[in-house]
Amino acid sequence: MKRIRTRYAPSPTGFLHIGGARTALFTYLYAKHAGGDFIIRTEDTDIARNIENGEDSQIDNLEWLGIIADESPRKPVEKYGKYRQSEKLDRYEEIIEEMLEKEYAYKAYDTPQEIDKQRKEQEKSGMFSFRYDRNWLKISNEEKQEREKNGKYAIRVALPKNKEYSWNDIVRGRISVNSDEIGDFVIRKQDGYPTYNFSVVVDDHDMEITHVLRGEEHITNTPKQMAIYDLLNWEEPEFGHFTIITNMEGKKLSKRDHSVKQFIEDYKNEGYHAHAIFNFLTLLGWTHPQAKEMLSHQEIIESFDYKRLSKSPSKFDIKKMDWFSKEYIKRMENSEIESKLNLENKDKSWIDLFIETYKQNAITFDQIQKAFEIYKDSSIKKIEKNEVVKVFADKLNQKNFTPEEINEAIKETKEITGMNGKNLFMPIREATTYQSHGPELAKAIYLFGEEIIKARLK
Ligand code: GLU
Repeated sequence: MKRIRTRYAPSPTGFLHIGGARTALFTYLYAKHAGGDFIIRTEDTDIARNIENGEDSQIDNLEWLGIIADESPRKPVEKYGKYRQSEKLDRYEEIIEEMLEKEYAYKAYDTPQEIDKQRKEQEKSGMFSFRYDRNWLKISNEEKQEREKNGKYAIRVALPKNKEYSWNDIVRGRISVNSDEIGDFVIRKQDGYPTYNFSVVVDDHDMEITHVLRGEEHITNTPKQMAIYDLLNWEEPEFGHFTIITNMEGKKLSKRDHSVKQFIEDYKNEGYHAHAIFNFLTLLGWTHPQAKEMLSHQEIIESFDYKRLSKSPSKFDIKKMDWFSKEYIKRMENSEIESKLNLENKDKSWIDLFIETYKQNAITFDQIQKAFEIYKDSSIKKIEKNEVVKVFADKLNQKNFTPEEINEAIKETKEITGMNGKNLFMPIREATTYQSHGPELAKAIYLFGEEIIKARLK
């Protein structure tokens, strides 16, 4: 049995997006479930669109989620070649030369204007998508030479006629496309750079990738890539295409839609729980055999059966994501949460109670940190007279300042005033903590310390 090897091949044209993260995650899980290797490599030949730190954002944020590559541009294995396309141009050239020599590919001398003309003519005749018609054959040899001197030619693959490319898609089942529906496509552009559909095949072949898994936007690329494997007589990998992620209205997530936070970086910076996102993303298009939701990293790897991948789009529900983050933070050890916060000048028991109190309802570590800031405020403000507050202040004066006894004072206030719910808690909370929302009231009060609370109530 061949060792399973999968890869995630981002273009560093943007930061790690939810969609990319989920593709990487499923790809990672596929390999890890089978005890194989997960590889990250970079498709960086679209120089104009690359952004600074694009590659780092991909790798660092995946690592933050817990998706660690066995090989990457940072951890290359020599026999598999380079892990950045920009460093492999010689290798691509070598294969292109071979293809030209064997007449699997040819130079096409058309100018962009001529291609445009072809395209328009085809559109007029009602053709669904553009197919190159080997127009270059129609120009004279002198003219070809003239154009070649200026370096103005692309290299196109010479597709066989009427050949069926079909594969058993891991997610979608059988898919077939006829070569006549594709048309000879460019493998090296006029500017000398290889195209994606060509270089990706060389990379997957060089790295001995066994399963090419990616988003469904690449389905139309797969037969093109199969044509290259076929011509070069290279063994094909298996292919699988994950369905899209949509917003709650069912529209494909667009990076321009600012109503949804779409970059993993944003969640990291806001202090979301990393494994909560890992867990959430796993369920974005996959279900556990027993429909379990909260799953550890190891449980996910063990139960990841690709047959349970969804064939229909998945809705990105931020409320669900928040729920996961909350549940995971609640289950964390206080000391572990403490290491993510900056809680200066407080003693151990105070910190412990503070975290215990606030972790019950926090979606992010930032929210706990923000809560800490309110305890730095020892100001005293004048507030309007209020019967509930007055009774509470009286009752509290007769007690020891502990969470339990503060709770007693609240209960007695309830009995005496006949108020309950919001009418009871809100005035007390506002008069003591100067906040309108918060965790369990007695604890929130206690954390301020006796001195400040008594001064505020006075
Ligand atoms: N760079 C491509 C992308 O980001 C990778 C496609 C592939 O996995 O083959 O979509």
